[in-house]
Amino acid sequence: MIMNLSSRLQLFNEPETLKMAKLGRELRSQGVDVIDLSLGEPDFDTPQHIKDAAKKAIDDNWSHYPPVAGYPDLREAVCVKLKRDNNLDYKPENIVVSTGAKQSLANAVWAVVSPGDEVVIPTPFWVTYSEIVKLGEGVPVLVRTKIENGYKITPEELEASLTPKTTLFMYSSPCNPSGSVYTKEELEGLVKVLVNYPNVYILSDEIYEYINFIGKHESIAQFDEVKDRVIIINGLSKGYAMTGYRLGYIAAPAHVAKGCEKLQGQITSGTNAVTQRAAIVALLGDMKPTYEMNVEFGKRREKMLSLLAAIPDVECASPDGAFYVFPVVKKYFGKTDGTNQINDADDLCMYLLNNAHVSTVTGRAFGEPDCIRISFANSMEKIEEALKRISAALAKLH
Ligand code: PLP
Repeated sequence: MIMNLSSRLQLFNEPETLKMAKLGRELRSQGVDVIDLSLGEPDFDTPQHIKDAAKKAIDDNWSHYPPVAGYPDLREAVCVKLKRDNNLDYKPENIVVSTGAKQSLANAVWAVVSPGDEVVIPTPFWVTYSEIVKLGEGVPVLVRTKIENGYKITPEELEASLTPKTTLFMYSSPCNPSGSVYTKEELEGLVKVLVNYPNVYILSDEIYEYINFIGKHESIAQFDEVKDRVIIINGLSKGYAMTGYRLGYIAAPAHVAKGCEKLQGQITSGTNAVTQRAAIVALLGDMKPTYEMNVEFGKRREKMLSLLAAIPDVECASPDGAFYVFPVVKKYFGKTDGTNQINDADDLCMYLLNNAHVSTVTGRAFGEPDCIRISFANSMEKIEEALKRISAALAKLH
């Protein structure tokens, strides 16, 4: 007999991104040559000076429990980075480092959201947002944005979604999955609304800060009118190719940081000590490898966009940041190749996986069912081959 599991597990879903990667791996283990464009991680190696710092940390015996919120010199290094790159003033008491930005997000949401509170999330959004909110017994309020507005929420849409029950407004810029990047003026427009809602926290996920194709990264924390309720989420996974190191951080009002520290103290006791020592070197060290990766992502983005443009009935906005395209594929819904009926984006992703042997992710998981997400964090050769296969598979649908 299998005993029951907790009702908590029923509140949320497994990440669709990880599910697709798993299905792709299963096919690969049967000898199928699958190209994985489903996962969101740089295919580059961690820069050498950071790897050296991690090795040195092991040799120097950084092997004991770290302080729960992170080593003081790492929290100080995060403050230096925030001043250097974003002109933001924070103190170590505002910083908590965690096991990836995912844990930073979970800490932050659970620290400020009580059961029944509403959390406004513009769609498309990163798959994990709604699930973390549900796990915290909050209520996700999804606000569908428009492709004409670059998939960015407008001040009017934001205003219409806020109620006395709203505790948090959360978004990512650059956005996973749409690649949208809010400009300073656009953020200012949102701030003008948010000043009238002093009980709403603002969570700004900036994990893709360094993967930006349009210039300067702007944080909503630059606006003094709201800074005392902004929670910045950032980390090393994407910009420094350090996904496996698992280091994320928040910059937040001190009382929120204390709340996150309290939560983390009961769950992980703080992130890996060796990773934390390497993170100091990453944050304060040579940024050239990060900028070079961005240049390379930019070339792949161009390639991806030009190959997609040649496929009929696919509409795609160009991403200003992150490493995904998020094309509208709804014109393929209702079609068939004679064997497979495509009714929605889920069917299309499964069709592409099983017939083109390319893994992508359904837009439904991101709250935008007309789209699929395709990552370009893969080599130029793989991108070319994958798009050739996708194009051939789509051409068979009538
Ligand atoms: N936020 C966004 C928007 C992401 O896309 C991701 C990872 O895909 C994360 C946070 C989590 O990053 P980490 O790997 O540091 O947990």
